[in-house]
Amino acid sequence: MNHNHENVWANCLQFIKDNVSSQAYKTWFIPIKSVRLEQSVLTIQVPSQFFYEWLEEHYVDLLRKAIGKELGKESRLEYSIIMEQPVAGNSPYTVKVPTTNRSAVRNRSVSVPVDPAEAPIRNPFVIPGLKKLNIESNLNPNYSFDNFIEGDCNRLARSAGFAVAEKPGGTAFNPLLIYGGVGLGKTHLAHAIGIEIKNKSPEKTVLYVNAEKFTHQFIDSVRNNSVNDFSHFYQLMDVLIVDDVHFFSGKEKTQDVFFHIFNHLHQTGKQIILTSDKAPIELQGMEQRLLSRFKWGLSADIQVPSLETRMAILDKKMYADGIELPREVMEYLAYSIYTNIRELEGALISLIAQSSLNRKAITLDLAKQMIDKFVKNTAREVSIDYIQKVVCDYFDLPIELLKSKTRKREIVQARQIAMYFAKKMTKSSLANIGLHCGGKDHATVLHACRTVNNLSETDKHFRRYLDDLDKKLNVQ
Ligand code: ADP
Ligand code: MG
Repeated sequence: MNHNHENVWANCLQFIKDNVSSQAYKTWFIPIKSVRLEQSVLTIQVPSQFFYEWLEEHYVDLLRKAIGKELGKESRLEYSIIMEQPVAGNSPYTVKVPTTNRSAVRNRSVSVPVDPAEAPIRNPFVIPGLKKLNIESNLNPNYSFDNFIEGDCNRLARSAGFAVAEKPGGTAFNPLLIYGGVGLGKTHLAHAIGIEIKNKSPEKTVLYVNAEKFTHQFIDSVRNNSVNDFSHFYQLMDVLIVDDVHFFSGKEKTQDVFFHIFNHLHQTGKQIILTSDKAPIELQGMEQRLLSRFKWGLSADIQVPSLETRMAILDKKMYADGIELPREVMEYLAYSIYTNIRELEGALISLIAQSSLNRKAITLDLAKQMIDKFVKNTAREVSIDYIQKVVCDYFDLPIELLKSKTRKREIVQARQIAMYFAKKMTKSSLANIGLHCGGKDHATVLHACRTVNNLSETDKHFRRYLDDLDKKLNVQ
């Protein structure tokens, strides 16, 4: 039989496509990859636990039918889930879950390395000196440079990463340390560099590891008396990517072993790429000698993305997933979630899920309800940008004028209203609000708020404007 997993999956897809809406097909089936076929067990890879649960919940019968048609009654499906979030110390890892006997499976879900057959992790202690190893890089192909939107927030880190990918170990950027807040793209960029190196120089051994996983492996190796093997293994790499090195804080023994690995790699001209949630200077609980080495190369930060970058990221993501959203919905998402790209993407996915679950069109209202639920627990507030946009849309004025210094009457009034809502709805200081609204000082903002309050009491029309805007701005 010339069954290979790709053909089998392609046929399944054909069948599935005829049986679900095209939106559902694009959202839930296109992102699936087939991984292997062994004795009527087809393994597919899905991007997240959420994704897996969704498929199990809604499409398991269809999937079974499709696979049954291809491979017969004995066939079975296994999922392999790539998790990007570190869970229980493993990142990324896969969970293998057969479709049969689901409740038992859920409990038994175990984390194993990305490819159990070849993974370096389960048994990293291969014979030292054996250079040609089949080492799984642990790189996620979705995290490529192509999928990484460039913006002012990440330009330096991105171009340094690109330079490193061109000439691993051969630039001044060794180590390259990428740092920045949560969900801003450090892991993505680190993978992108690794992927690019593999594309350009396939012979190079690249390994991505999360600092937490590294630490656990090290602890295991102490327990098993195999620290030397552990350290040798890492010294075999041409390119070592260690994600979230802040995790090493306060862990002296792990820092020691990493220090030696670092030195060995650096001295032999190998490339080291690190990410951290803080600048080296702010990393507490880190040995001085290690910190000083972190600073040898280049430390490049990733900042919070601007509104345009957030829109571009959403655009890209929607395009990749074949989704279309009304412009106002997309703008609303980008305006409301501004400190964390992971959250922004999460909101987008939830929105799509909500809409396909309830068979509701994706409207601004749905987006507002969803965001309220989704982002409630994290610090969220309507942004000044969003308030300005809503006010300008309402009065049909260009937002640039509101942000300018112009003293035209209708602009002044709109600006005052925007200041009033910003004071009421955000935690921004008066000075900051002023800065956003034509570079005014805090006294001007105070004056604006008073004026708006006064007018709302005396002018019926004005009161209406405020009520309308209040409704538009209020998430409920
Ligand atoms: P961090 O490691 O900094 O916490 P991640 O790299 O995990 O953040 O990024 C979170 C999510 O945001 C990922 O899904 C990633 O693909 C996405 N992302 C971050 N930055 C960008 C970007 N510049 N372009 C496209 N997607 C991005
Ligand atoms: Mg990360």
